[in-house]
Amino acid sequence: SFDAENGPSPGRSPMDSQASPGLVLHPSFPQSQRRESFLYRSDSDYDTSPKTMSRNSSINSEGLRTVRSNFTILANVTTPTNKSVSCKETYQQMAQETLEELDWCLDQLETIQTHRSVSEMASNKFKRMLNRELSHLSEMSRSGNQVSEYISTTFLDKQNEVEIPSPTLREREKPMCHISGVKKLTHSSSLSNSTLPRFGVKTEHEEALARELDDLNKWGLNIFHVAEFSNNRPLSCIMFAIFQERDLLKTFRIPVDTFVTYVMTLEDHYHANVAYHNSLHAADVTQSTHVLLSSPALDAVFTDLEILAALFAAAIHDVDHPGVSNQFLINTNSELALMYNDESVLENHHLAVGFKLLHEENCDIFQNLSKRQRQSLRKLVIDMVLATDMSKHMSLLADLKTMVETKKVTSSGVLMLDHYTDRIQVLRNMVHCADLSNPTKPLPVYRQWTERIMEEFFRQGDKERERGMEISPMCDKHTASVEKSQVGFIDYIVHPLWETWGDLVHPDAQEILDTLEDNRDWYQSTIPLSPSPPPVGQDKELNACIDKFQFELTLEESSQTEQEHEEDQNTPNHVAQDCT
Ligand SMILES: [Zn+2]
Repeated sequence: SFDAENGPSPGRSPMDSQASPGLVLHPSFPQSQRRESFLYRSDSDYDTSPKTMSRNSSINSEGLRTVRSNFTILANVTTPTNKSVSCKETYQQMAQETLEELDWCLDQLETIQTHRSVSEMASNKFKRMLNRELSHLSEMSRSGNQVSEYISTTFLDKQNEVEIPSPTLREREKPMCHISGVKKLTHSSSLSNSTLPRFGVKTEHEEALARELDDLNKWGLNIFHVAEFSNNRPLSCIMFAIFQERDLLKTFRIPVDTFVTYVMTLEDHYHANVAYHNSLHAADVTQSTHVLLSSPALDAVFTDLEILAALFAAAIHDVDHPGVSNQFLINTNSELALMYNDESVLENHHLAVGFKLLHEENCDIFQNLSKRQRQSLRKLVIDMVLATDMSKHMSLLADLKTMVETKKVTSSGVLMLDHYTDRIQVLRNMVHCADLSNPTKPLPVYRQWTERIMEEFFRQGDKERERGMEISPMCDKHTASVEKSQVGFIDYIVHPLWETWGDLVHPDAQEILDTLEDNRDWYQSTIPLSPSPPPVGQDKELNACIDKFQFELTLEESSQTEQEHEEDQNTPNHVAQDCT
């Protein structure tokens, strides 16, 4: 038998579509010096063929073709001329029959429409390739195993065995009568145009904030600084700045006080005590989406309504995130998992809360949109936010790759996306890319994100330990390897995605890909050279050193309050030297 997933050619080819004047087809790109992700490796276990079968193609019948031609050579098939009976003749006949069989299969695959979609087949193929990569990784070391577990449970859409904890008794409540998480807040509804601060938020650092926001349209904007100078209102502030920049308040006749009230209310529904999935992350994803929307390759591709929808989706995409994963919510029989039947639990909830908040007093920023506009905006937003469920990653990537392979651009290099389905597909991948953009940001910014996500993971791990549950991969603070997890995360998830996005908007994402590679190398270089897990003695030494460092630092701090501040600069170096 053969693997049907490898066989068929793509359902749509560049030739299918109606060509228009000035049309340039870009089925593939000259390969640069850039390192390629695992997607470019062969999907064959034993790649004995001189040419790489699946290179640059997500779905094709080339694999079977190669089998056929290899078979021809190996069996030394020649056209039968006489019918004398010999052992060699029987062998030849069998070979001939097999060849005919293969020809029939090829013919079938190339002519019939299969019932399974191309998208599903491409996605399954990538999942299989990733699984193989991950099984190699997990065989290499214990930490490799943990990284591999994390990636496969988070990014591959597969059913996990669910442990069943004892149900918790709660006070009686009418089920499903309201969306949980919507709080009544009284602030800021009395804003008027005259009292409105320059960036929509009250701050004593308006000048510093203005300087930071000079980078509003750049990938390197430091959102941590924006938070610092905006009285810790990064989401409100960045939404205000972006909507001003794009003139969206005028286009959609959004009253400015309504806008500010909504974004502040939205920001208040992000949890400040959650380490990663708070309003800072939402602000980051919104600003990243804003920059990606401005990609020259996408110039004038999207309507104003689609742009509005993408920015709104990014802003609400993690609202009321409790700091634990979908799987945790499912495993603990949470109210949310019950509400959404275990399917994209958090993402459904973020959407419900984001839309519900529009009903709060003076919060309906879409009040002047027509009914049709509201309907299509809602459809777009739901699509994009549901696509941020990381378990959907592989199907998204597969669709994107198929699109890249058949992409059409105008003579000026702008993508041609005539149909709604193509545009929404790019948009949902764009928000997904922005959601997975931390490793593409300047290293100091990226490292802060890593610290935050690990803190959130470890807190979930602590909760799991307390409840006697199995600790999720990467969530055990005693065994997780932060650096290795980032390298694995880049190699298997972030790089393949961004590489494909880079092909789509070529050459607009070159700098982003360069930064990603540099950051990957940096994290790789920080992995201790010793085989993991490190020898116990060394670990103890390190811990003792850290303890010593913290102890001395505490001593210094307490004595400092009585002393001058000048000494403080030398302290950390001095102590650090003691450790080495
Ligand atoms: Zn997110």
